[in-house]
Amino acid sequence: MGNRKTPAGFNRGITRRDFLNGAAVGAGSALLGAPAPGFGQPQVQAPRPSLDPDWYGFGGVGDYRLSHGNTPDVVAAAHRLRDGEFPTSLRQFSEVEEYDLVIVGGGMAGLGAALEFAKTRKPGQTCLLLDNHPIFGGEAKENEFNVNGTRLIGPQGANGFFVPAAVVDNPERAAGDARYYAELDVPRDFRLQDWPADAEPLRFCADNYGYLVRGLQANTSVGHYFDTDDSKGGQWAVDMWQQRLANAPLPAATRAMLLRWYQAGASRKFESDAEARRWLDTMSYKDFVENELQLGPDAAAQGDLFLASACGLGSDAVSAYAASQLPMPGLADVPPAGLKRYSFPGGNSGFVRYFLKRLIPEAIAGRPDFDDIITGRINFGALDRAGQPLRIRLSSTVLSVAHEGDPDSAGSVSLVYTRDGRLQGVRAKAVVMATGGWMNRYVVRDLPVEYRQAYEQFQHAPFLVANVALTNWQFLYKLGITAAIWNKGEGDFGYTCNIRNPMQVGSYQPPLDPDQPTVLSFYTPFYYPGLPVAAQCRMGRAELLSTPYPVYEKKILTQMVKLFGAAGFDPGRDVAGIILNRWGHAYSVPFPGFYGGATGNAPRDVIRKNYGRIAFGHSELDGLQHWGPAADEGRRAFNQLRDAI
Ligand SMILES: Cc1cc2nc3c(=O)[nH]c(=O)nc-3n(C[C@H](O)[C@H](O)[C@H](O)COP(=O)(O)OP(=O)(O)OC[C@H]3O[C@@H](n4cnc5c(N)ncnc54)[C@H](O)[C@@H]3O)c2cc1C
Repeated sequence: MGNRKTPAGFNRGITRRDFLNGAAVGAGSALLGAPAPGFGQPQVQAPRPSLDPDWYGFGGVGDYRLSHGNTPDVVAAAHRLRDGEFPTSLRQFSEVEEYDLVIVGGGMAGLGAALEFAKTRKPGQTCLLLDNHPIFGGEAKENEFNVNGTRLIGPQGANGFFVPAAVVDNPERAAGDARYYAELDVPRDFRLQDWPADAEPLRFCADNYGYLVRGLQANTSVGHYFDTDDSKGGQWAVDMWQQRLANAPLPAATRAMLLRWYQAGASRKFESDAEARRWLDTMSYKDFVENELQLGPDAAAQGDLFLASACGLGSDAVSAYAASQLPMPGLADVPPAGLKRYSFPGGNSGFVRYFLKRLIPEAIAGRPDFDDIITGRINFGALDRAGQPLRIRLSSTVLSVAHEGDPDSAGSVSLVYTRDGRLQGVRAKAVVMATGGWMNRYVVRDLPVEYRQAYEQFQHAPFLVANVALTNWQFLYKLGITAAIWNKGEGDFGYTCNIRNPMQVGSYQPPLDPDQPTVLSFYTPFYYPGLPVAAQCRMGRAELLSTPYPVYEKKILTQMVKLFGAAGFDPGRDVAGIILNRWGHAYSVPFPGFYGGATGNAPRDVIRKNYGRIAFGHSELDGLQHWGPAADEGRRAFNQLRDAI
């Protein structure tokens, strides 16, 4: 692969010989076996995962190469923080910077807060945004490869979107996606690659999710792989839902039951959203399928992959109300296949870049138009210049946030953060915490007990996005598929993978040709049906954080050989590089009761109130994490503090 850097842990090319003879690297790391304790309580500390030197692995090329998923530094600092190791007072610092506002977190929520600050600030007001990763964007970042001279970009996490139906005349009166779409002037039409008429007919998903969505699956050539006991080792069923499962190797009774589930439309009409929430949020989607639809556990299990890909865990852990917001069978009608999802080259990093270009125009090279915003290089030097109203400081982990005095009367908030191994102090008139509860409950030192108790109810599931750069994808072409789904069996890696029809943007013109390079993305949740929600999250995080890069590399290639070997896949020839994006707290799981259940008392309602000069805004408060509502949460949090600065 041209230009490929070889950081520690990737000092060899992937060759067939390496793959077959690769040393088995044991996980060998301590697992995060116990719940994270609160400060000041007597407790048995959860052991920290020891990150092997080769844990992180290859990061690709370009601006995002040093930041793919959670970095080792972020993981290590988070665990030291959890264990209460850092000092909290500003007294130790000879110099303390002062700002009107500090925003902690540079994902969509933090950028939403920053945009509102930039629009409403009074002359002279200043803001510092601190993020712990080497690049902004949170879970909406991108990977970049150079495969034999071909530039390829893929998402690290958040990846796809529907274009908002309504064109908003006055964004100030709108919310969510529609508001920012209009305000930032994001285009509504996109160009994908043409698939040649003389090639075998193939359908492509434009993102890494649509091929799982009931109804929208028809837009993608999806292969389901079934393990078989015979010498063939496995069997593909292509487009099995469109074929009404006729080609799936399942007993007739199971096929009939699964079809009933798949085709079930909204089973009940509600007078209002509040009514739906009061009832549906008292049960899991599994309860709903089994008790309300009267279908067996296999039907609910069929929903696991879709739900876990959208919100972290499967049907036993997710509220039926959350499921109703997704087009889940029995709760919503089948969406029309004409509904189009798109994905920018780097997924939702495209939206992040739109925010950044508006906030600090010089931070992305080029003009403020679609082509340059999406593909331009980052000018890191422009992010944190003295004298500019908004400064964005990266690789800065905030360790402590507290009012200087009683929250009801204090005139300022103190923050301690670490950067380049040095502790630094900042004072602000107000602070927006645009980070998740797993972090806030440790960082915010004077958090009232009511908030702490509310945060303790949140559950965060991990997620792994593995992007595999391919030199060619002839093996998929031979199978007649562009997305694959399999039932994860003993020893298997992942559940799904796909190639996108890549969006064409300016000079970025990635090919769509089986003989040319592409990115195959494995979106991989961790769920363990039947276990309590917290235990599922903990087990997944332990697996995600304790598995070294070479072990995942081997698992991924082994899985690809299993799925695609018979179609000619050869890891040594076909794979140019693998980037792992590990998200330790990817999704806040909307468990039954998350929205308030029958009582209407939702933990998120507590968190949405500011106390003193600190307010909280993060996508997790919305229940289903999504880019527009994430920015809204940040905006709301800033507006709660506007009079305090
Ligand atoms: C695999 C995956 C797929 C997804 N797909 C989609 C999708 O298709 N469409 C969609 O709209 N959404 C998707 N999402 C949801 C996505 O997470 C949200 O849309 C949104 O991008 C989250 O923004 P946020 O600002 O709330 O949180 P984050 O993106 O988590 O940003 C918070 C930032 O704060 C930083 N931070 C945390 N603690 C500290 C600290 N102590 N000091 C400094 N910085 C700190 C974090 O590292 C991070 O950079 C997906 C998420 C995942 C994980």
